[in-house]
Amino acid sequence: MTDFSALSHLVCSRTGTRYDADAVQNLSSVGAPLLAAYDLERLAATWRPDDLRGRTASLWRWHELLPVRDPAHVVSLGEGGTPLLPMPRLGQALGIDALWMKDEGIVPTGSFKARGAAVGVSRAKELGVRALAMPTNGNAGAAWALYAARAGIGATIVMPNDAPSITRNEVALAGAQLYLVDGLISDAGKIVAQAVADGGLYDASTLKEPYRIEGKKTMGLELAEQFDWQLPDVILYPTGGGVGLIGLHKAFAELRALGWIDAAHPSPRLVAVQAAGCAPIVEAWARGATESAFWPESRTVAFGLNVPKALGDFLVLEALYASDGCAIAVDDAALLAAQRQAATLEGTFVCPEGAALFAAAAQLRESGWIRPGERVVALNTGAGIKYPDTFEATPPLLQPGDRLPR
Ligand SMILES: *Cc1c(COP(=O)(O)O)cnc(C)c1O
Repeated sequence: MTDFSALSHLVCSRTGTRYDADAVQNLSSVGAPLLAAYDLERLAATWRPDDLRGRTASLWRWHELLPVRDPAHVVSLGEGGTPLLPMPRLGQALGIDALWMKDEGIVPTGSFKARGAAVGVSRAKELGVRALAMPTNGNAGAAWALYAARAGIGATIVMPNDAPSITRNEVALAGAQLYLVDGLISDAGKIVAQAVADGGLYDASTLKEPYRIEGKKTMGLELAEQFDWQLPDVILYPTGGGVGLIGLHKAFAELRALGWIDAAHPSPRLVAVQAAGCAPIVEAWARGATESAFWPESRTVAFGLNVPKALGDFLVLEALYASDGCAIAVDDAALLAAQRQAATLEGTFVCPEGAALFAAAAQLRESGWIRPGERVVALNTGAGIKYPDTFEATPPLLQPGDRLPR
């Protein structure tokens, strides 16, 4: 028997300084993200993969490696437990022998942001937060507004004016305070930071609170279990703020520390996929840098990727270098073509961000970076139906009584 959570403390991602996990925290004193640390040594002695048997399929099956201490504080809409779909026909078209897609399109709110929101909101509730605020490109705001509503916590959300309108409606419908900004997510971030400084709101911005990443980390835990603890060779991830990628890296490190995956086996090579119109991580990786530079006048139809400067960029780059991965950009035309190809060949209607992965995989296979026989996973982060305007069908219009053309 273990405690519900093995959370031990928080640690500054730059200096390694310890922080109290049971107080409300944002950034460390040097302005860096705080990451959750667990008592892995004790867990390793008491917790086994067999203990997962019979548990919920949702991400809460991993509760020992999540920060919520009391199950009564769990705020859930059934997130997690997403399928790992073989993609044989698309794989064949791309020249990849073993291609899978982990499909986050089916989670509540239609994007993997639900994972971060479920864990972040649950922990905020547990720590007594009454109202939170965050900037968003759409999906995160929608997820946090809905989970906050379920938790009875107030939410203030600021998003760019051109973020997908469905996400706007989700936020408004959830009863949150919604503001649009005539600018980018970085402009929304400044407005939220000022509102937080003015008092009364908890800053739930990406990586400014420590627990969203814990929710996203569960994608990596699930992948390990779905691959029977034999991790794939390559994982492609559509990178905006990069939280999911940092989370995958953290998940594998924790499983290695627990002895659930072979410490001698090389880590999957992590690939940060970005849009050509906003590729600060790709640019930084190409010059071997440890931080990215602000990407001016960013634009892409893949809204989740429109993050001109990520707070956790150094953690993303660290994960890429440590896993022998890479970063690659694809243009909007290529990702939209890949979206159609995935739907046509596999029946999967993925979001533009997820579609970018297949365009990137094609390039990496062509260049030889993905080798024959390697097991490749694309992490599709959301549902295509959340972006109704990225594709327009133009079917023939019939009149009543018309016959179909032969
Ligand atoms: C937010 C988002 C991303 C980027 O996620 P990060 O973890 O912030 O890099 C990718 N795809 C979709 C659909 C998103 O909503």
